[in-house]
Amino acid sequence: MKRPEQILSMVEVKALIRGAGLRSTAARIAVIQQLASTPNPQSHSEVSEALDDFGFDQSTIYRCLTELSDAGLLARLELGDSVRRFELLQSGASTGFSEHPHFMCVDCGSISCLEEFTFRLNSKKRGAETPGQIVEVLLKGHCVKCQSEVPVDQK
Ligand SMILES: [Zn+2]
Ligand SMILES: [Zn+2]
Repeated sequence: MKRPEQILSMVEVKALIRGAGLRSTAARIAVIQQLASTPNPQSHSEVSEALDDFGFDQSTIYRCLTELSDAGLLARLELGDSVRRFELLQSGASTGFSEHPHFMCVDCGSISCLEEFTFRLNSKKRGAETPGQIVEVLLKGHCVKCQSEVPVDQK
């Protein structure tokens, strides 16, 4: 499933929130519209900053992000850099986990969403149990921007 990377209309956002069993409040609507308008996951501080003009306080935004994640509308990404990021899930998703892998640039720390793909866990031991439920797939590397700054002999 691809993320809906577009500005959602007010009606669509309200339907999303109600569909998840929550009341549509101004803050929840603003948070969802903000996340829908960017192609990459955003942290609490990025969302707060983007919504600065609305006058919500940081804790309201934080609560919205948590409630919307718990309701299965947002994915919480734990990418190992101690910054928790959020992104909008396709409507109908209910696991609260993102459905696609992410790419983190080890040089500049930028995060991008990758297309969904399937992969197989290769275990050396035959018949080994799966390690558990996978909640995040993270690939690390050099983003296009940083890669072009790497000297040729290091590519
Ligand atoms: Zn980079
Ligand atoms: Zn993503």
